[in-house]
Amino acid sequence: RAKNQGRNRYAFYTSDLTASAHQRLEMENDMRRGLERNEFVLHYQPKLDLSSGKLDGAEALVRWNHPQRGMVEPDQFIPLAEETGLIVDLGRTILNIACAQLAQWRDQGLTAPRMAINVSGAQLIGDHLVNDIRRALAKHSLSASQLELEITEDFVMNQNREAIVLLDLFSSMGIHLSIDDFGTGYSSLAYLKELPLDTLKIDRSFVAGLPGNHHDAAISQTIIVLAHNLGMAVIAEGVENELQRELLLEQGCDSIQGYLVSRPLPADEFANAFLRRAPSHQPSQPV
Ligand code: C2E
Ligand code: MG
Ligand code: MG
Ligand code: MG
Repeated sequence: RAKNQGRNRYAFYTSDLTASAHQRLEMENDMRRGLERNEFVLHYQPKLDLSSGKLDGAEALVRWNHPQRGMVEPDQFIPLAEETGLIVDLGRTILNIACAQLAQWRDQGLTAPRMAINVSGAQLIGDHLVNDIRRALAKHSLSASQLELEITEDFVMNQNREAIVLLDLFSSMGIHLSIDDFGTGYSSLAYLKELPLDTLKIDRSFVAGLPGNHHDAAISQTIIVLAHNLGMAVIAEGVENELQRELLLEQGCDSIQGYLVSRPLPADEFANAFLRRAPSHQPSQPV
């Protein structure tokens, strides 16, 4: 909503085509202030293994708990963060919150699943990310295999040499790598054989038409076969109903994520609904 609301005279524009330089600067400053005041929070959405129905992972999704605007969705501020380079600071904050959360769950005796973090292309330039990840893992005594990075096709399609080296490094550290929103980028499939990818994530625009739309069903089936033939796992995002789940199971999809299972939840609600005590922490009670 671009309408003036009381004292908030700017809107959360999503691109430089619609926002004036002044508005962008104002929002950039607001975002810097928000970072300093820890206004960014993560919600967590479960990923479920389709055949066992068990928790398979969690995706961390950022929100801006803005003092005047309430919870702001990522689509409203990630694009500007990418354009201004603030995504590096924001990404570090997100990584640190996610790792601190994994450590907290572990310390509470809960079995935490692998945590997926969304990574923008701009975060894969230079070695900020690898340094930030190493530092965060060490600080919280976590293993790299507890982390997953979701990257988009548009970034990897450039076949950027530096990025390939970086992804190889992440993979060799044991970090799980996924392609997010698979099928929506303007990329060739060539990169799939160049990169050490673990999972393809079928974009929800294809899932939305299931099971009735035969074209969408053909696309999801094809992505599932493609992933498996390349030795990768496949997850469908945006699964909202039982019929979609059934078709994806039939098609051989490994995992699902979406409102059918749960919306993204604050950490405590996620833990209450989806996390169990780790066996090693089970209080030993005489029977
Ligand atoms: P994404 O990574 O593809 O995340 C999935 C989005 O779909 C999330 O929106 C999620 O809330 C929504 N969603 C999940 N299940 C369903 C469903 O069943 N139906 C429908 N209609 N939607 C569903 P959200 O949280 O608004 O995130 C939007 C996008 O913002 C993400 O897309 C991701 O590209 C970006 N994003 C979110 N968090 C971060 C972050 O920490 N860093 C970066 N760089 N980008 C992020
Ligand atoms: Mg994602
Ligand atoms: Mg996605
Ligand atoms: Mg998507």
